[in-house]
Amino acid sequence: MFTVPELQYSFDALEPAISKATMKLHHDRHHKGYVTKLNAFISNRPDLANMSIEELLTSEDTKTIPEIRRHGGGHYNHSLFWQMMTPNGAKPSQALTDELAARYGSFDAFKEQFTSQALQLFGSGWCWLEADLSISLTQNQDNPITQGRPVPLLGLDVWEHAYYLDYYNDRQAYIDGWWDVVDWQYVQAQFEAVV
Ligand code: MN
Repeated sequence: MFTVPELQYSFDALEPAISKATMKLHHDRHHKGYVTKLNAFISNRPDLANMSIEELLTSEDTKTIPEIRRHGGGHYNHSLFWQMMTPNGAKPSQALTDELAARYGSFDAFKEQFTSQALQLFGSGWCWLEADLSISLTQNQDNPITQGRPVPLLGLDVWEHAYYLDYYNDRQAYIDGWWDVVDWQYVQAQFEAVV
């Protein structure tokens, strides 16, 4: 049985970037919905009962099963997403800033390119900073690991449910606010784990 992880901060902690109402809806309904549907599927597949979410999403036998890809991917992506944000948004470390600047010209240029990519995603999906510092998009609840790549360093949920209550259809305003609550210490820790 999979469970929705508790947030490590209160539902209103990310305001004004992300409202309490959005966090409640997103965590308690959307994420819970993925977990409920994933568990319902697994309950009929006892052969999968002992697999971790990472194993389900990456093994050849299971990763293309629609219920795994959608609900399992949704569970995995949101579990990462909550950890990638914090009300105490420290600046990225010099080492990571330097690496991003070397690749994109400057740290601000990296943020602009990430934002630009996230704005270009048509429909629902995620924008990622990958372990190799490239920027990528995935549709729906796919993730770099479901496509055979390492765990990403940072991800942005660009499904409308992530911002519609707060920003209506203004994805740009959502992304601009989201940069203020990115947990760069988390990103930094992931980055150091892969280099
Ligand atoms: Mn979401």
